[in-house]
Amino acid sequence: MSAVNCYVTHLESPIDGTRFAPGLIHGTHLGRPLVVEYDLPGIRAATSPEDWRTRQPGMWRYSELLPLPFDQEVVSLGETATPLLACPRLGKTLGVPRLVIKDESLLPTGSFKSRGMSVAVSMARYLGLKRLAAPTAGNAGGALAAYCARAGLEAFVFMPEDTPVVNRLETVLYGAKAFLVNGLIHECGALVRENAAEFQWFDMSTLREPYRLEGKKTMGLELADQRDWTLPDVILYPTGGGTGLVGMAKAFTELRNLCWLRNETMPRFYACQSSGCTPLVNAWNAGTRHAETVNNAATRASGLRVPGAVGDFMILDAVRQSNGAVIAGDEARIDYQMRRACALEGVPLCPETAVCLEVLEGLVRNGAVGDHEDVLVWNTGAAQKYVECMEHPMQQIDKHKPLVDQLEVASRPRK
Ligand SMILES: *Cc1c(COP(=O)(O)O)cnc(C)c1O
Repeated sequence: MSAVNCYVTHLESPIDGTRFAPGLIHGTHLGRPLVVEYDLPGIRAATSPEDWRTRQPGMWRYSELLPLPFDQEVVSLGETATPLLACPRLGKTLGVPRLVIKDESLLPTGSFKSRGMSVAVSMARYLGLKRLAAPTAGNAGGALAAYCARAGLEAFVFMPEDTPVVNRLETVLYGAKAFLVNGLIHECGALVRENAAEFQWFDMSTLREPYRLEGKKTMGLELADQRDWTLPDVILYPTGGGTGLVGMAKAFTELRNLCWLRNETMPRFYACQSSGCTPLVNAWNAGTRHAETVNNAATRASGLRVPGAVGDFMILDAVRQSNGAVIAGDEARIDYQMRRACALEGVPLCPETAVCLEVLEGLVRNGAVGDHEDVLVWNTGAAQKYVECMEHPMQQIDKHKPLVDQLEVASRPRK
């Protein structure tokens, strides 16, 4: 490592370009996110992709492009590099034989929320914060709770009453102070913000502090690394708050500016939402820069139940620049897509990613995605966390009767 302790130059507002100094506690500016900027020429002089390859696999390998000073201890639960799984059987069914799923279910706490929280909680501890709070509709609460436990910090989590049972239980299990609220996630977020001064907690909501984005950025860095610094043609991403998509776009831009990418063209991003909650789809179709908060948001894909995203314009800009689109998948088809993918490939697909497969079917049907293209879908979480979506009827066997009389023809070996 060089004498430099960190390559962050400043934080910047994408709204009006105002700059902020690194090493201080930051939230939003004008109610909108701040982004971290790096000394890319300095990084280029100090390290290289070959150098990164000599380190342990996983998100912290890219430390020069992360905000934590090198002399600070990382808050980690062992974030592995997640596998790129070729899915030819599922791909053939969908009309894209070169389909690959990047399976984030292997990360600690069973979802990619760990990437954001590992960096954000590391930064919070470094900056001297002791009490962290966040709203969650799904996996963010468990991840915040686990990383706070790991760091010895206090976590406060506010969630809607219909949050999936595993997400509720894990948050308490990891020792957070957890609360059920008779409202949606943006109303839980408002509770966190309005009471921050009184309770002295720091707001860790998606894109309301700058470092979860840097953690999610490692999705893009790791993907490029695993593909030997090339990128796929098409990326489908289940989009709620949008941190992952904005993070990926930031990763690709930084890698391109470092001249470490081999391709000329960037992937087309398809941001996928459930038909039960479509604020970004509405804004995309209307051609507006910001999204209006939707009412009555309802989807089994809890990570996508985000009625209003503070980083809406960053998501829409990234998708537009990539020549992609923001598209809704039919809520009623989530169970079918989830089951088919799990059964065809053994990948524990979450309902959020099931929405992406539904969108992908439509894109292939209307010719927007061709059968020759490299298509990458993010499996953002583990199916096992969604017991509500896993329930399925099973035949009951009577041990007192012969099995041959009970098993249907389909269970017999083929002649
Ligand atoms: C949070 C979450 C999402 C949405 O991620 P954003 O980056 O906030 O858009 C998608 N899938 C799962 C499983 C999630 O937990």
